[in-house]
Amino acid sequence: MIAVIPKSPNSQKVAQAVDFLRKKGLEARSVPWNDQTLLVTQHNPASTDVNELKESGIAERIVLPSSKAQLASREFQNETSIVEVGEARFGAKKVVVVAGPCSVEGREQLLEVAHAVKRLGVTLLRGGAYKPRTSPYEFQGLGEAGLRLLAEAREETGLPVVTEVLEPERVGLVAKYADMLQIGARNVQNFALLRAVGRSRLPVLLKRGMMTTIDEWLQAAEYVLLEGNPNVVLCERGIRTFEKATRNTLDLAAVPVLRNTTHLPILVDPSHATGSRLLIAPMAKAAIAAGADGLMIETHPTPETALSDSQQQLDLREFASLMEELEAVAKAVGRGIL
Ligand code: PEP
Ligand code: MN
Repeated sequence: MIAVIPKSPNSQKVAQAVDFLRKKGLEARSVPWNDQTLLVTQHNPASTDVNELKESGIAERIVLPSSKAQLASREFQNETSIVEVGEARFGAKKVVVVAGPCSVEGREQLLEVAHAVKRLGVTLLRGGAYKPRTSPYEFQGLGEAGLRLLAEAREETGLPVVTEVLEPERVGLVAKYADMLQIGARNVQNFALLRAVGRSRLPVLLKRGMMTTIDEWLQAAEYVLLEGNPNVVLCERGIRTFEKATRNTLDLAAVPVLRNTTHLPILVDPSHATGSRLLIAPMAKAAIAAGADGLMIETHPTPETALSDSQQQLDLREFASLMEELEAVAKAVGRGIL
């Protein structure tokens, strides 16, 4: 259950509501939510038990969501959330394209990509400084030096940056440089990390885990929301199935499924979903047609020399021609990119 306590001054109302709920045997968690306070309980009481809270004017609204991802649900918020990161507005009419290299490898590489994607209408630059690699022998990222380069790219181009954070202890450091924090597929159920990025109050890009159901993914988002951070963007990046022809299996049906169940904006990452340069364009177009609010695409000046994910990064020319094709698809479904 979510009880919405209206704008401040509401401390008295919050205390009254907590007291009321406790008498009914319900422990409520208090969540700051924009300028309201939400009181959230684990289970839904019978509506007759809590109606009084609304009738007495203490709560503005009582919501009894049908799923455990209560704050993420459309029952709680019917209109799609708009998450703003600089000029990127996830969930608004325009499709947002997030692009950049898999890993930040050096100044020249990053600045070349940043300038190129900026010219093409990209509104958020991506790049990994801390890389979650399957093998400990593989390139692990430049660490803080990579974060500094991302900040430099932002200075030069005006593009905000999103980058992955791997550990709760490092959230403070990454938040000093980044405009949006990415939680990667491998960390989607790292609950301490989810709470930490929730507390950071920076917008969060939450990838789907390769083994998580849509429901588990939404419950992961709920950890961030429950810290009072409403700025969560979901990113479908493929799940693991028996199919070997692609790196992962892109679950495009997740887009309309999520659209019906959550107000959170939805991105699709065709790079990690397919693992193959040739498959990025068709899947990117299909994602927009399926209703995605945006895309995350890896691009590199020379993909063949990339230190990570070299098979799934477009070169800058391929990326430019994809942007043109995407604009046409976005228009056809009543949206645009530029
Ligand atoms: C990434 O986007 O850099 C990444 C590692 O992706 P994923 O977490 O989806 O594997
Ligand atoms: Mn990658």
